[in-house]
Amino acid sequence: AIMVATSVATIAEVYGELQRAAGAASRLLELLKIKSLIQNVPNTNEMKAHGETAISFNNVDFYYPSRPDSAALKEINLNIEQGKIVALVGPSGAGKTTLFELLQRFYDPQVGEIECRGENIKLLSLTDLRHSMGMVPQHPVLFSSDVWHNIRYGNPNASDEQVVEAAKRAHAHDFIEQLPEGYNSFLGEQGVRLSGGQKQRIAIARAILKDPDILLLDEATSALDAQSEFHVQAALNELMHTRTTLIIAHRLATVTHADLIVVMDKGQVVATGTHQTLLEESRLYQRLCELQFDKANPAPV
Ligand code: ADP
Ligand code: MG
Repeated sequence: AIMVATSVATIAEVYGELQRAAGAASRLLELLKIKSLIQNVPNTNEMKAHGETAISFNNVDFYYPSRPDSAALKEINLNIEQGKIVALVGPSGAGKTTLFELLQRFYDPQVGEIECRGENIKLLSLTDLRHSMGMVPQHPVLFSSDVWHNIRYGNPNASDEQVVEAAKRAHAHDFIEQLPEGYNSFLGEQGVRLSGGQKQRIAIARAILKDPDILLLDEATSALDAQSEFHVQAALNELMHTRTTLIIAHRLATVTHADLIVVMDKGQVVATGTHQTLLEESRLYQRLCELQFDKANPAPV
């Protein structure tokens, strides 16, 4: 009962804050504010050792504080087994990114619970929870600093050798070596300009260094050039190997490799299955396939 009361107060506070900030609040600013309202419980539980189920969503409903009358997620039930690759697909606004945000506890759901290895994530320490997860965003942010610092962000204690090793495994080492000052080159707004595919490989190197149990991947929507695409895919395969992976998939080529595909629409899970079963059973999945594959790039069967 205490927990419910706390989350109601939190929503009211955030709502007030957002009302005042109306117009100016970008998604990132909102996240930064709300993050500070998500707190550890007084006595956090230890994260359990690896279990069969890595993540589960049990009857989760979620409303953004600024939109209390419209559910961003509704009745979400999902069980994700340890070591599997799970793809989330669905039209824009379906709730895919929101699901990632709840998993990292940038927000708490108003109804239901999210478990990580059988433990409600609200009872885990935020540090443990976020250490166990690595996120490769669609548009990785680079700091105004050198390559060393940009990759070491994944694990501040990593040695130079470990940074180079991670860059190699991320298929980033070769292009880094070719920058004017190699690993000492400055990135970010004032620094060397990298292509989208190169930025992603820096983000993948960070995630390799962090070595999380759970990988959250927001696949790029924009097409990469063929060379970059090849390297990014190879780097991702390296990263997904041996961990539980959730991918927001925009390319159905990725989806066909997944153990489970979750089709989302308007905040709900509308179908789950494999590429083959969904092609037969889900109208929405068929439509998504038609939109993403053309004659030059036929759907794999
Ligand atoms: P997807 O990633 O599948 O495109 P999102 O999770 O971004 O979908 O969005 C799900 C719904 O939540 C959409 O209706 C979107 O407009 C809404 N939404 C997303 N972020 C916010 C936010 N910060 N505040 C209010 N509504 C949001
Ligand atoms: Mg999204």
